[in-house]
Amino acid sequence: MIAKEKASESMNYLVLVNRLNPLPEHWEDGLETVRVSNSVGDEVEVERKTYAAYLLLRYDLEENDGIRLELDSGRRSVAVQQEIMDRFTEKYGADYAAKTVAVPGYSEHHTGLALDLYYRLDGKDIYTNEEMARYPGIWEKIHAKLAAYGFILRYPDNKEHITGYGYEPWHVRYIDSAEIAGKIMSRPGMTLEVYLGAVNDADPVIGCGPSALYSEEELKEAAVQIKCKFASFPGCELHALRYAGDPCCGAESLQRINSLDPGRGFIQAAKFLSDFTGGEGTEAGRAYADYPWWLGRTANGGWQLISWGQ
Ligand SMILES: [Zn+2]
Repeated sequence: MIAKEKASESMNYLVLVNRLNPLPEHWEDGLETVRVSNSVGDEVEVERKTYAAYLLLRYDLEENDGIRLELDSGRRSVAVQQEIMDRFTEKYGADYAAKTVAVPGYSEHHTGLALDLYYRLDGKDIYTNEEMARYPGIWEKIHAKLAAYGFILRYPDNKEHITGYGYEPWHVRYIDSAEIAGKIMSRPGMTLEVYLGAVNDADPVIGCGPSALYSEEELKEAAVQIKCKFASFPGCELHALRYAGDPCCGAESLQRINSLDPGRGFIQAAKFLSDFTGGEGTEAGRAYADYPWWLGRTANGGWQLISWGQ
């Protein structure tokens, strides 16, 4: 049993909020924020310690790189996120809105620890996503300094299958540890999801046993997909998750997942086995053993959960 955490005065700066993990209840109880104005006159709200770290990062970049950082967006309440969702749905349709806007309650911006940055260059605000994409060298300089101040790039390129979002060079996340931020930022494509899956003591052990097909990191990335799915079944308690082994992941399996989800062109398959106690979405209270999960992998390296239970 995992004891339910009481609302605590101390912030959990490693909190995971993504498309599958909502903002923890009572988060606001321990949250202290500051409100500041940016260069275009908008008010931005940021968690207190996050803002202090941001100021140090900004000073460093301005002094040493001539880049003047600005804050586009910080904390957003659930109500404001709902307004954004409604506006996008009306303007672009529900499909586009669902792809680009986080569901209210599931945005990292609710935490106050996530910042959307922009910058001033030669006295001009480089503000829109199109403009910002024109200066990849500037983002490289900014990203290189994030970890030293306890920030990480939250949505790296080509990790949408894990984070739920495409590359966003401007979205950074404060985690209050230069050491952990350094570990994440020094490995290209490393995400908070994978890092937390690898170190959280409360998590069941992921068995990534010997494989000639996949590295341990590749299997962990696949396992995170399963764990995230589990998180969406309230009451289910996952006890163990293990790779089923290379013999289960050959040509026959690949053919099977491609027929289950045609048109995606999976090039590799992986099977995992889990032991868990059932909750919502399964038979409540039942002890499941060797319950199977199938994932497919496309040419860009992304794992996708295809089927489970059979
Ligand atoms: Zn953002």
